[in-house]
Amino acid sequence: MMKKLLVALLTVFLMASSVPVNAASKKVIYLTFDDGPSKQTPKILKVLKKYNVKATFFVIGARPKCYKYIGQAYKQGHCIAAHSYTHNYNIYKSQSKFYKDLGKIEKVIKKQTGKTSKVIRFPGGSSNTISRKYKKHIMKKLTKSVMKKGYRYYDWNVDSTDASGNNVKASKIVKRSKSKKKKICLLMHDAVTKKTTVKALPKVIKYYKKKGYTFKTLDQAGKNEFHHYVNN
Ligand SMILES: [Zn+2]
Repeated sequence: MMKKLLVALLTVFLMASSVPVNAASKKVIYLTFDDGPSKQTPKILKVLKKYNVKATFFVIGARPKCYKYIGQAYKQGHCIAAHSYTHNYNIYKSQSKFYKDLGKIEKVIKKQTGKTSKVIRFPGGSSNTISRKYKKHIMKKLTKSVMKKGYRYYDWNVDSTDASGNNVKASKIVKRSKSKKKKICLLMHDAVTKKTTVKALPKVIKYYKKKGYTFKTLDQAGKNEFHHYVNN
């Protein structure tokens, strides 16, 4: 009996000591850009390169002329993830409609990067209520079925609010992007109407570098991180 207890205690001790002390206290930020690629993408890439940080791009299919930027971003070491092909909320009419749309953007990603991506972000996030207009409880079903199919979906826990209007003042974006959370998934947008995001970006990066954050891409995040509460 005593021996068993000792073994158990030793196992607990070894397990605890094998975890690096600062692993839990490490501050991480995931920069994310939704709704690209756009004419803004090269500008965003330039800033990210200058500061040597990696980000995640949740792409859509709206601008075929800009698809080449997907490949460029991928080559620079950023994570390319699927957002939606149409970004039309009618994809929430049914699961099959949703997956048909997802399949289309996956094809674009595959063509530009040579790889498929299992990282996704739902249009409007998993917490969106607009989907209720199209189908009741669709988000409850989709959040479960995507995980079953091997996808990982990521929402965000800090909103830069750059989508609250067109060309929101850069200073406002910087202010809203600042957070004291240890793990941050920051929502930003990659669109021609979001020029101030690019202007705000160096300041946001510098702020988090100074605070000791590590910049990571979402393919390195845990599978249940940054999930919103599902409302529909
Ligand atoms: Zn979006």
